[in-house]
Amino acid sequence: MAKVGTIELARISARGVVQGVGFRPFVYQLATKYNLKGWVCNTSEDVKIEVQGESKDVKHFLSELQDNVPPLASIEHITVTYHPPVDYTSFEIRHSIAEEGKYQLVSPDIATCPACLKEIFSPKDRRYHYPFTNCTNCGPRFTIIEDIPYDRPKTTMRSFIMCPDCQAEYDNPLDRRFHAQPNACPKCGPRLELLDARGNHVETSDVIAAASQLLKNGKILAIKGLGGFLLACDATSEKAIQLLRQRKRRPFKPLAIMIADMEEARRHCYISEAEEKLLTSQQSPIVLIRWKPESTVCQAVAPNLKYLGVMLPYTPLHHILLREMGLPLVMTSGNISEEPIAKDNDETIRRLSGIADYFLVHNRDIYARYDDSVTVIERGEVQLTRRARSYAPYPIHLPFTAKQVLGCGAEEKNTFCLTKDSYAFISQHIGDMENLETLEHFQNTLALYKKLFRIEPEIIAYDLHPEYLPTKYALELGSQFSHLKLVPVQHHHAHIVSCMVDNNVENPVIGVALDGTGYGSDGHIWGGEFLVADYKAFQRMGHLEYLPLPGGSVAIKRPYRTAIGYLLKLLGEDSLSTKLAFLKQVDAVEIELIKRQIQTGLNSPLNSSLGRLFDAVSALIDVRGEIDYEGQAAVELEMIAYDAGDDSYPYSITEHDGTNIIQLKELLSAIVKDLYQGVSKATISARFHNTVAQMICEMCQLIARKTGINRVALSGGVFQNRLLLRKVVPLLESTGFSVLTHKQVPCNDGGISLGQAVIANFS
Ligand code: ZN
Ligand code: ZN
Ligand code: FE
Repeated sequence: MAKVGTIELARISARGVVQGVGFRPFVYQLATKYNLKGWVCNTSEDVKIEVQGESKDVKHFLSELQDNVPPLASIEHITVTYHPPVDYTSFEIRHSIAEEGKYQLVSPDIATCPACLKEIFSPKDRRYHYPFTNCTNCGPRFTIIEDIPYDRPKTTMRSFIMCPDCQAEYDNPLDRRFHAQPNACPKCGPRLELLDARGNHVETSDVIAAASQLLKNGKILAIKGLGGFLLACDATSEKAIQLLRQRKRRPFKPLAIMIADMEEARRHCYISEAEEKLLTSQQSPIVLIRWKPESTVCQAVAPNLKYLGVMLPYTPLHHILLREMGLPLVMTSGNISEEPIAKDNDETIRRLSGIADYFLVHNRDIYARYDDSVTVIERGEVQLTRRARSYAPYPIHLPFTAKQVLGCGAEEKNTFCLTKDSYAFISQHIGDMENLETLEHFQNTLALYKKLFRIEPEIIAYDLHPEYLPTKYALELGSQFSHLKLVPVQHHHAHIVSCMVDNNVENPVIGVALDGTGYGSDGHIWGGEFLVADYKAFQRMGHLEYLPLPGGSVAIKRPYRTAIGYLLKLLGEDSLSTKLAFLKQVDAVEIELIKRQIQTGLNSPLNSSLGRLFDAVSALIDVRGEIDYEGQAAVELEMIAYDAGDDSYPYSITEHDGTNIIQLKELLSAIVKDLYQGVSKATISARFHNTVAQMICEMCQLIARKTGINRVALSGGVFQNRLLLRKVVPLLESTGFSVLTHKQVPCNDGGISLGQAVIANFS
């Protein structure tokens, strides 16, 4: 008889992303493998496990539990305690327990897995062409969950009763769909429906084939996806795209496209290994990739740009539709200009009926709006420029234990951030907070996060800008609830701290915060800022010189105004020569008005923004004088740049009361001179980029000499400029600096809420 080893009972608590990701069946199978008895159970806080058996088996179980977790699961924290054995006779999966005040991490929605994909395209499978196929390794999560623990009754799947086949899968611990909450099939699950522009049912035997035909005929369809509706049209049809642009009132804003598979994607773009990995990842985000000139995707998809926003299908519906189509599709957020993405069927038909010709809808409700995430690969690393689908609500890890704080975020590209324990829960991209619909989206999403993660903030952080909607929201909260502590945070300090946290850095850095607009501590508009900063405080060590923006916000929409203002201020009235091509497009009356504004300072706020300098140069050399979307003038200036070696323009740095100011007169004068001499726009743009990189490096050297700090954090929307990043990072590194750039958190205003929340933790 074999010698019986010691019997022991281990009690385990596993935290992290461990629910709704096939974790319990994994535990069940592992326990069975090692002949252990006991149970596993989801609670609001963790997954609890008790296993009893021979000590060597328990040991093996524990090591495999941590080493071989299912693809979507991750254990962040595990505790094991040992107890006297009890009389377990089997291993079972117990019912979930809800516990007051406890929380756990929630998995984001994940792209269709290879196993499900295979079923969808196997004619004999019972899920052949079924657009809502999913399993514990893929499918909707965050967008359908209303509360934790994650169980079907707490999701928008509760109205669908599983058929016997689905129920059998759901109950079988050895099945891929064991406790897959959104489990469904054509017999029992959600269904598609095609509606016309007025919302009337369109009779058809095959909804996806009919939708595909309509798209091929140049129609615009609103398609319900995971986190909202996307507007789709044929990406190779100039006519369809122009129609969509006209109806959306968006002449230039780049549109994302969806491509059936990698093979097709390679026909349209140059794709690196890292980009392929990202495109085909579980997150399946939009990746900005270099566009091939021979691509059949129309220029009108992304006018004047060299990069195309590409994603692969991430739901079964997309996979089936794209295969049926055999053509790339434009897939852009289903909204009117600045409103949030539409999610409910009735709401969508009301809001989008002027844009979409047809609606491809289904009857699985969406609980959380969820835009597509946008990424780039730069220097081999992933950078998020819009953090939403498949990334949120997974938290960022903090290098300290946090209080319960809400950071309300900035106005553009808003996100909010809640901190608790060692986590920062940054919301998915909310949008531009310029209307009540977006504010409502902000409030609903905030309520959901507070509920899911059991957070009741005691500190509220907000931007200094008095006109930002999130700032008004924070102040309103403060006046309603007197126990709340309100902490105002300067915009660029928040940018730099978000970059520090993104890199897990706590010690003071030289913060280079370059963006379009941020409210300064002195009431002026900042945006070309050189700080020394940590989580507690910052000191403004230097900045671009203050220059007037004639007309304020009007100048942001019409960069030619900024260019004229800068010329007048720096080079005088004579510089407005008729030989400058860009002036020909400006009305003489408006020029006179601008002159008066500059002379009197009326409605001409002072700003030190590098984003505005990019605008001014773009307009001055006649690349872009009026814009349709934020950053357009700067982006188009970046796109035309053509290698000019190391040539650059002169500028000077002066010191006032210990602050270094970058003076721009020589720079502007040299660009005008180049224009007169017929130097190409491509060369001027490249020289300008070189100059900015040098300015940044020289300023950092001056600050390093004063402070001894040699770590530089780069943040702010300007760093979405890939050309600038490619020039400035090596330059700084070769000068001996270590350089922090953004990774998981956007460098644009989408990262502001994180910085605010962290700074408020230390206030
Ligand atoms: Zn799957
Ligand atoms: Zn079924
Ligand atoms: Fe900013």
